[in-house]
Amino acid sequence: MDCIFCKIANHEIDSEKVYEDDEVIAFNDLDPQAPVHVLIIPKEHISSTNELTLENKDIVGKIFMIASKIASDRSLDKGYRIVNNCGEDGGQTVEHLHFHLLGGRNMKWPPG
Ligand code: AMP
Ligand code: ZN
Repeated sequence: MDCIFCKIANHEIDSEKVYEDDEVIAFNDLDPQAPVHVLIIPKEHISSTNELTLENKDIVGKIFMIASKIASDRSLDKGYRIVNNCGEDGGQTVEHLHFHLLGGRNMKWPPG
């Protein structure tokens, strides 16, 4: 399968790794939108939020806990944002489930 995030998860292509365990990898976004912009992904290929099932859903809770830990490590004491883009209208460009951890500046609402 030609999935860039699977290749990052398999170490077939390089990334600026922030965290890794047997199920999850986190790395800096190539095109950062904030001083801290980390992508957190399951190593298992799940195309989007729409492909979550009773069997694979627990990875999302784990990813949120890892996001909180990374935010703490990066001293994002004033807060941060976790974003998941799903599908065309959601702005998803990579079809492998991922969560953006954004911090280090004041976030606007609503997003564009
Ligand atoms: P999304 O638009 O939610 O699908 O987010 C995809 C994100 O992946 C974008 O923020 C890209 O900058 C980022 N991205 C794409 N390729 C890479 C890569 N090889 N390494 C790190 N980030 C990437
Ligand atoms: Zn993939």
